[in-house]
Amino acid sequence: MTSLQHWQELLKQGVNNTKELLSLVNLTEHDLPTALTSPQPFKLRVPRGFINRMQAGNPNDPLLLQVLPLLSELDLTPGYDTDPLAESTTNPVPGLLQKYKSRALLTITGACAINCRYCFRRHFPYSDNNPGTAGWQLALDYLRQHNDIKEVIFSGGDPLTAPDTILANLAKQIAAIPHITTLRIHTRLPIVLPERINDEFLAWFSGSRLKPVMVMHCNHPQEIDASVVNALNRLHKAGAILLNQTVLLKGVNDNATILAALSEALFENHTLPYYLHLLDKVQGAAHFDLPMTEVSAIYNELMALLPGYLVPKLVREIPGAASKTTII
Ligand code: SF4
Repeated sequence: MTSLQHWQELLKQGVNNTKELLSLVNLTEHDLPTALTSPQPFKLRVPRGFINRMQAGNPNDPLLLQVLPLLSELDLTPGYDTDPLAESTTNPVPGLLQKYKSRALLTITGACAINCRYCFRRHFPYSDNNPGTAGWQLALDYLRQHNDIKEVIFSGGDPLTAPDTILANLAKQIAAIPHITTLRIHTRLPIVLPERINDEFLAWFSGSRLKPVMVMHCNHPQEIDASVVNALNRLHKAGAILLNQTVLLKGVNDNATILAALSEALFENHTLPYYLHLLDKVQGAAHFDLPMTEVSAIYNELMALLPGYLVPKLVREIPGAASKTTII
């Protein structure tokens, strides 16, 4: 039996109980009467290192608000759906989604290190979409047969919760397909569990024929501590192209000064802001949504604060569209 790596131990030690989370940040249910303490279908999950970056005693902490289940998540809000991006229609074989020409996405795993309450895949049927170790042949065949696909995206869940042996093996088989040039990983782990960026990971990710691109998911500058800086610098030194996407969230980062500080902190660590996403209207996340008048005001102020190359594109995903839709 192989022993767990350090990051896998940390993953296992994540907090999945609302009362424990609140007590770790010196809060009680009285401070947050809107918190949902009973078991939830989309469970609470958060690494302890991420909790350490929350401000103790602050019920409005922007990191806490991203992971804390609320009673309002149980409301059925009109206009909010369990599959807001109609992904079930873009799923030709288990484990593979193709929404856009030239790139295909593999849902490597349904697991995440952190369960973000606004996640558009919080109701995604991962159990129908995890082909298992032996089952990736159908997805690989699809990639081989579609020579217009240039880029493969490892997604999930969070693909970096899977062991390196599985990821490296898949990457090797993809690298053997001549028309594929780029491997992109969409992940929140370098931010929420930066210990994941270790020698084993960097060896296969940067050692492949495929151009390594990583799209991080960071929403607030408070998420970036010394351990994250270290992970981003290691990725950069290994030759990865680093980009970041952010979801615009009411009460978390709906402020141009905060978003500007995030872009600057990322840039200082070799990461370019890529997308600022409007919330996908997923059931259970309505409390994060903002009216468009406020979105426009925040974005216009952000553009005035930063050079153009540090302003992420404000986008919305519209099911069936040929690309993300730029808003401003
Ligand atoms: S890490 Fe990504 S996939 Fe996982 S819950 Fe958060 S947003 Fe969703």
